[in-house]
Amino acid sequence: MRELEGQVAVVTGGSRGIGRAIACELGRAGASVAVIARSEDRARETLALLEGPGMALACDVADPGQCSDVAATVQDELGAIDLLVNNAGITRDNILVRMKDEDWEAVLETNLRGAFNTTRAVARGMMKRRSGRIINVGSVVGLTGNSGQANYAASKAGLIGFTKSVAQELAGRGVLANVVAPGFIETDMTASLPEEARDALFERIPLGRFGKPEDIAGAVRFLAGPAASYITGQVLVVDGGMVM
Ligand code: NAP
Repeated sequence: MRELEGQVAVVTGGSRGIGRAIACELGRAGASVAVIARSEDRARETLALLEGPGMALACDVADPGQCSDVAATVQDELGAIDLLVNNAGITRDNILVRMKDEDWEAVLETNLRGAFNTTRAVARGMMKRRSGRIINVGSVVGLTGNSGQANYAASKAGLIGFTKSVAQELAGRGVLANVVAPGFIETDMTASLPEEARDALFERIPLGRFGKPEDIAGAVRFLAGPAASYITGQVLVVDGGMVM
């Protein structure tokens, strides 16, 4: 089924990992996909994997001006934006007392302010057309907190409050906003985790495996499609049962 045929999607952080899997899955569903990352070259690598049309654009989501420019370019090249997936994210882990100001700021600027910048840039168009979906990639850590990730957990918890507020503001205009909260997914982001920490996390996953980027992409495709037209302001946890 190509339930997103003719739709235009923007996926931030689409050059690797979860974002790449989301871009490919939305392409398989029929959407034209704009792949966004700081590096255009890396975004192009995902573009080459897409089934349908698309484009690759360099944009630092922490920069509001770049986000408005990207929204305008996508609209000119691919058409009005139907779907925004805020997936770009970074970690700068450390215990609280050793966390540097710049580690706090970089994570909040990318993970939370980035979602604000892009959402504001596309919201007006969606409201005018009385239709649109915004899907924010959070984390189970935004629900539970995590020792050593005060900055990251705060950004992902903030994303939930942001999403619920956007969902309430835009519901009357037919625009839906939800969060997908992954558990432990095997990507560059988790590759550097020490063996001991991986083993401890593995023990906490009832389904007995780490997640794959495709597990998250499937949830995003569901929330983007017609089967989710009565769902807004929700957090869909995709973690193999780690957090219940
Ligand atoms: P990843 O492999 O490290 O990929 C991160 C992506 O974000 C890359 O495409 C990167 O591209 C892009 N990016 C980073 N900073 C950016 C910025 N300022 N502007 C634009 N793009 C930026 O991470 P991942 O594991 O796929 O994670 C994707 C999302 O899932 C993140 O929001 C993460 O917090 C969330 N998540 C991941 C896990 C997990 O276990 N992996 C669990 C829970 C939640 P460039 O470097 O080219 O910019």
